[in-house]
Amino acid sequence: MFGHSLKLFELFGFSIRIDASWFVIAALIIWSLSAGYFPQIAPGLSQATYLALAVVAMLGLFASLILHELAHALVARRDGLGIGGITLFLFGGVAELKDDPKSAASEFRIALAGPAMSLGLSGLLGLAAMVAGGWGLAGLLLGYLAMINLVLALFNLLPAFPLDGGRVLRAWLWHRTGNMLDATRRASGAGTMLAFVLMGLGVMSALSGGGFGGIWLALIGFFVLNASRASYQQLLMQDSLRGRRVVELMTPDPWTASPGMSLQDIAERVMLTHGVSFVPVVDADLVVGYVDTHLMGKIARTQWPRQTAASVMAPLDPSAIVAPGLSAQEALKQMAAGPHRKLIVQEGQKLRGILSLRDLMGHIAVVQALGGGTGSADRAGP
Ligand SMILES: [Zn+2]
Repeated sequence: MFGHSLKLFELFGFSIRIDASWFVIAALIIWSLSAGYFPQIAPGLSQATYLALAVVAMLGLFASLILHELAHALVARRDGLGIGGITLFLFGGVAELKDDPKSAASEFRIALAGPAMSLGLSGLLGLAAMVAGGWGLAGLLLGYLAMINLVLALFNLLPAFPLDGGRVLRAWLWHRTGNMLDATRRASGAGTMLAFVLMGLGVMSALSGGGFGGIWLALIGFFVLNASRASYQQLLMQDSLRGRRVVELMTPDPWTASPGMSLQDIAERVMLTHGVSFVPVVDADLVVGYVDTHLMGKIARTQWPRQTAASVMAPLDPSAIVAPGLSAQEALKQMAAGPHRKLIVQEGQKLRGILSLRDLMGHIAVVQALGGGTGSADRAGP
């Protein structure tokens, strides 16, 4: 989801990044402010002034989003949760929580912190705008930022998971029933419903001459729809892996290559013969790296007889290794956070197997087809 993000700076120990999609949105915001909003509320200024106002307003919006996410992140850190960082993308930001909140009360506090920050900012900026009312351009900017922070607070409070309001709803349902998965299902169901309403309103407004506002609304609806489905799916996957260990789901005793083996031999005698795309390189019982079809593809075929596994293999880094006793949920998180879709299962220094994303997904598919997580029995509701 955060494939192409750019790190900007650090704030309170959190790294602040922006997703590539944000540049598109920033350009759209500058355009709609300089061509629409500012000429409308303050007619008669030069085009250059509108553009400058729009750029500063966009930067102010940017800072407002960061402060909103920072509030979530600080409360989450105080509650003992790991935070990956803050990424701004399409319609807002995400404080990337590494774990789910430990209790409904914690989720409630973390979810409310962001809108509370936006509301507070809106109040302060509104006050400043009133004081600066006679200052012209400064008053215009402060007024816009007060309004946009109010919009941020209210929009995020919509009861549609994974928006903040949806998280508050989930915390309440979770608190009432004690079943987090079911609370998430219902809160993201509300998110899906709201998304369709937003998209419908947006399309209707665009068709009846609402123009840009309608398109915004439809886009936001589309974003909420995807996000609500994705976050429930993610939780469902984690739940399906509950209680499983890497050793139960891995492919044991995989085919290996020695460091001196030529790429030609690896392709013909290992990959094609046994139908595997990922081959650990083992030297005297120790895993020293791996060769896969992706690495092979980078070397010209004519070089395959001359190149050895040792000369092209990827070295082992910690993000490519798991222990057999690790929980499958942790292994999935490791895959999601790192670049590897296949992990080498090692006990001490000894190769035990390979765990692929396909192994995990296969297990998840079976659990889903049989109708629920392995842990559902101990959490059965009333
Ligand atoms: Zn928020």
